[in-house]
Amino acid sequence: MAVREIVTVGDPVLRERARDIAPDELRSIEVQRLIDDLIDTKRTANGAGLAANQIGETLRVAVVEVEAGNPRYPYKPPIPLTVIVNPVLEPVGDEIAEINEGCLSVPDLRGTVERFVTVRVRYVDRDGVEHEEERRGLTAGTFQHEVDHLDGVLFLDRVRDPTTFTTWEQFDRHHRAAFEARARDLVRRTGS
Ligand code: ZN
Repeated sequence: MAVREIVTVGDPVLRERARDIAPDELRSIEVQRLIDDLIDTKRTANGAGLAANQIGETLRVAVVEVEAGNPRYPYKPPIPLTVIVNPVLEPVGDEIAEINEGCLSVPDLRGTVERFVTVRVRYVDRDGVEHEEERRGLTAGTFQHEVDHLDGVLFLDRVRDPTTFTTWEQFDRHHRAAFEARARDLVRRTGS
C-alpha cells in the first residue's frame, strides 16, 4: 500500500476515458494494489472519493468513502468505503440539486454544479461481485463526480455559472453557511 501523487488539472490523464477492467485483470496483484493505493491516497488527502485517473492510471476503478468528521466535508453524511469497478450510472427521475463541489485534482477551487438527486449505480466490487444500488442526495453527487473522472470529465466542465467559482478561503468566508444549509436540507430529504 502506498500514498500516490494526485495529478492536477492540466495533466492529460484527467481527460482520458478510463478503460474497463476484465475479470482476470481485476484479480491481478497489480490492480488489487492499485485499489489499495487509491484507498490510502484518498484517506491521506481527506477526500470523499478518488478515481484511478487522479493517480495517473486509466482503468475504470474509483473509491468512495466519507468518514465521520471528515474536515473537508463536515456536512456530508458518512459513506462506507465502496470500491466501484466498471461503474455505470443512470439517473432515476429528473430531480436535480445544485451542489458546491471541489476536487483533489483542482487545488483550492470550488464551484456549483447540477447533479441528479437519485442515480442507479451498477458496478463490481474488488472481489468481482456485482452490485446494483440506488444512491441519493449528496452521496449520489459524489458517485457522479467520481464516474465523471473515469470519463475524463471534471466538475469544472459542469459549472454553468462561472461566478460560483471560489477559493476555499472565500468559500468559508462568504458561501459555506448558505451551502451547508442547502446541503443539510438535501440530506434530510434524501437520507444521504
Ligand atoms: Zn475529483
